[in-house]
Amino acid sequence: MSIKGLIKGLHHVTATVDGAQEDYDFYVKLLGQRLVKETVNFDNEKVYHFYYGNEIAVPSTIFTTFPYRGQGVRKGVIGTGQVTETIYSAPKGSMLFWKNRLQRHGVDVIEEQRFGESYLFFNDPSGLVIGILEDETDTREPVWLSDGITKNNALPGVHHVTFAVENLSETLPFLEAFGYEQIQSDGLYTRMEAGVGGAGNTIVVQDGSELPRGINGLGTVHHVAHRVASIEDSLKIKAFIEDEFGINVTEVKDRKYFQSIYFRIPGNVIFEVATEGPGFMVDETNEELGTSLKLPDWQEVRREQIEKNLTGFNR
Ligand code: ZN
Repeated sequence: MSIKGLIKGLHHVTATVDGAQEDYDFYVKLLGQRLVKETVNFDNEKVYHFYYGNEIAVPSTIFTTFPYRGQGVRKGVIGTGQVTETIYSAPKGSMLFWKNRLQRHGVDVIEEQRFGESYLFFNDPSGLVIGILEDETDTREPVWLSDGITKNNALPGVHHVTFAVENLSETLPFLEAFGYEQIQSDGLYTRMEAGVGGAGNTIVVQDGSELPRGINGLGTVHHVAHRVASIEDSLKIKAFIEDEFGINVTEVKDRKYFQSIYFRIPGNVIFEVATEGPGFMVDETNEELGTSLKLPDWQEVRREQIEKNLTGFNR
């Protein structure tokens, strides 16, 4: 049995972060992403769940955060068993614009060469490592334009994630069976692609044998989600990795905007497999996306209480 071709690429990346306001200001006002959904953590309704993406909230562009400040969650440690970097796609020739914009806002920027390409790396307000990489082949449009950002430099969304594992030889065979193909290696890094490849369909696996073991907490990525066309495909993947790898996979969970299963890969990173549909316009029009707090039906009945417990933030 094979599940080749079912995984089409990335769906979203989800991080545990500190304050809601700093998070919103960084991803919306500085990086120019669109807040495409304001909701709460379905497993902890005292905590927001922010979804940032492109104008039409296409899966693969999406980066999501749980701002856990005030909930007794400690700062995490970035290391093995985790996504260590989230890299955004940028139009060709826009790197200097981003470097200047970030520095003007007091963000320290490091330039690094990898796979023969230039990357910018910096930290978000919670300490997450974020990168920018020019990719002229990224065709995900339209992007979302905000203050001071034009079409020539707007970031279309997440390009890829890097995750670190202790032992590549146990993780790479799993990823190949799961649906990612090895494309290129550079020192500690192995680049892999699913589906049509390129922006939004790429992962980079880092040999993390020299890194500390990751500890979940503020300023760390919790999981990375990969996209499939349907729940039937998710169930085929669940059966395959349970049978072939002996990995426990959760039942299908209703995330309202998609349906998901979760599991830990060999190497400990939490993976989610999420359906492309029904999508973020199931409860808002494109124009309305992210403009007010949306709750699933089972929480809507307690809206007043839920709103009272949230910290609030200014747009
Ligand atoms: Zn998720």
